[in-house]
Amino acid sequence: MKLNDEQKEKLMRHLQETALGRTACPMCMGRSWDAADLIMEMRGFAHHSIVVGGPVVPLITVTCKTCGYTLLFNALRAGIDLTPGQSKTLSQAALEEASDE
Ligand SMILES: [Zn+2]
Repeated sequence: MKLNDEQKEKLMRHLQETALGRTACPMCMGRSWDAADLIMEMRGFAHHSIVVGGPVVPLITVTCKTCGYTLLFNALRAGIDLTPGQSKTLSQAALEEASDE
């Protein structure tokens, strides 16, 4: 799922107010962060298979602009509305990017 500009601004505001505003990068002590505009997911571990329809944790990656160290934040806790139709799916975003070229 891809965040729209409004969602990304809301996310960065939330992260600045709750975490990043008072957190230096633990690797380089940098204070400049950037959030990806894609929501990733983490699934439960299953030996030699992928569980379809199982629990998934939606994650936002936030990366230090200096060294690249990356933090993970739960998208729901960060206030992102994951209701279908609120954001573009990855396939919708890919189709739009292809049509722009
Ligand atoms: Zn860093």
